[in-house]
Amino acid sequence: MSDEISVHWLEETVDKISKRNPPEITLSTGKTPSGHIHIGILREILICDALRRIFEEKGKKVNFYLFMDDFDAAKRFPEYINTKFQEEHMGKPFALIPCPFEDCKCSSYAKHFGNELISTFDKFGIKNQIIWTFELYQEKKMQDKIKIALENTNQIKSILKKYILPTLNEDRKKEFLKLQKFWMPVMVLCENCDKLQTRGSDGSIRPNRVISYNKDKEEVSYACPACRYNGITSIYSGRLKLNWRVDWPAKWAIFNTTCEPAGKDHSVKGGAYDTGLDICKEVFNYEGPIKLPYEWLRLGDQDMKTSKGIVFTPIKYLSLADPEIYRMLILKTNPMKHISLRIEEIPQYHDYYDNIENIFYNINNAESEQELELVQYLYPLTKVNQVAKSKPKRLPFKLLIFLAQIQNILSLDKLYEKAIQVLDDEKKNLRKEEFETLLKKTVNWINEVKLILEDIDDIKIKKSILNKIEIFSIPEEIDNHQIDKLDEAQIKGLSILRQFLLENEIKDADLIQNKIFTIAKEEIKIPPRKMFEALYLVILGKKSGPRLGPFIALLDKNWLIKRLDEAIDKFRPND
Ligand SMILES: [Zn+2]
Ligand SMILES: [Zn+2]
Repeated sequence: MSDEISVHWLEETVDKISKRNPPEITLSTGKTPSGHIHIGILREILICDALRRIFEEKGKKVNFYLFMDDFDAAKRFPEYINTKFQEEHMGKPFALIPCPFEDCKCSSYAKHFGNELISTFDKFGIKNQIIWTFELYQEKKMQDKIKIALENTNQIKSILKKYILPTLNEDRKKEFLKLQKFWMPVMVLCENCDKLQTRGSDGSIRPNRVISYNKDKEEVSYACPACRYNGITSIYSGRLKLNWRVDWPAKWAIFNTTCEPAGKDHSVKGGAYDTGLDICKEVFNYEGPIKLPYEWLRLGDQDMKTSKGIVFTPIKYLSLADPEIYRMLILKTNPMKHISLRIEEIPQYHDYYDNIENIFYNINNAESEQELELVQYLYPLTKVNQVAKSKPKRLPFKLLIFLAQIQNILSLDKLYEKAIQVLDDEKKNLRKEEFETLLKKTVNWINEVKLILEDIDDIKIKKSILNKIEIFSIPEEIDNHQIDKLDEAQIKGLSILRQFLLENEIKDADLIQNKIFTIAKEEIKIPPRKMFEALYLVILGKKSGPRLGPFIALLDKNWLIKRLDEAIDKFRPND
């Protein structure tokens, strides 16, 4: 085996950054707050957060930025924004559009959706700094870059031509060259209508491009295609914005970005990353960041987009699952591979995480030296807080799923009692309020899985999901119809079990499972299946359910005895 295989894919980027050996390391990420921001954005943010931790551990100073690109103009709105609002604000930068929700007190559209994302960073263990791009454009350092871009328009144009032209077919080549004739790298926020762009009658976007630049006066002239206003404005007015292919390298040059991940749309040949690197070097005199391309994160089998389609936000994720599970999922997967986040597979993610944790704490052996190294590298990066000295004891997810579904028959106190039994001496670490929150999360998760199941037509897939997750509900009362399905032998079996429960503890799952078998086979001589069916009918109102021994062991003894009493009482033998 070659020594060169690194323990984890992150090491490749770590090496590249280390070779540059900058005095400070700067990591950048970016997002346009054009609507609810889905959880996919956390892929690049968590990759950078991991790099931040790795270099901070090495004693390096690390700057980690998220650029909220709120100077970007609204090209379209998500469908949950009402049409009148859309028409009024189309073409304006998101920073200047008011919050679209009536009772909300936030200052802009951008702040509403941007802060929704930012508010989750703490819970995911992400430590970064937010830069609102609109504010950045009010600063001299950005305005200086605008001046450089205006004075190097021809060079920028030839760089764009060099990269983009080979990717176009003949027709589009002609169109591109025609557009380039009057192209300028800067747009102006109209002083009359606050728009950066509008849509032509053919649906194409018509940006508010600078027409001419007066170098001596440091002014630009423009003609707004939205309201037909003609204006002249200073390049220091804060109303100028770089074209996005120039905006990116300008930011790299200002902040000396060492590394920035980019989704595959920007990473392609001739894409904004390649032109950006060239512009950064040639025009802004900075070598540019190390490129780190990554694939999208999908929700199940569907793509996620901020502007349309399904939106699954980090807030939504946190309402039903654990942030460390998500960190693990992102950081274990090579960035060039798709990730399908499958909500219904969260129990399996928990199992996987549990295994990693057991290897990390030497509770289980790794399968190989390599696996051990990987776990030792990966596990600390998945933690929201510091790594604990010994394996943190937490409630098994399966137990939570169970307890969440019997809330209608047991009080919170009783459920809590059952939960802390599992935690032994560490029970102090789980307060009742925390337990209640966990239960709520689990209920949300179960409800989400139910919705996913509703959407699946394929019975086989449905069954395979249900086989892995024990979803059930306990009716408050037994339906007489269910009792009618029982015969005298079964009722006798239930009576014997009732007596057994009265005289014994019910905490041992195997003991109960065996007892049900022996009652059926030896005492009333019916197939055990009939005895199990009877119990499922009485408890769940249907003929099947989770494995009965462990299930009963988790139920409340008094409740179960009462339930059996009720069944026996309601039973009327035929004739
Ligand atoms: Zn708001
Ligand atoms: Zn205008």
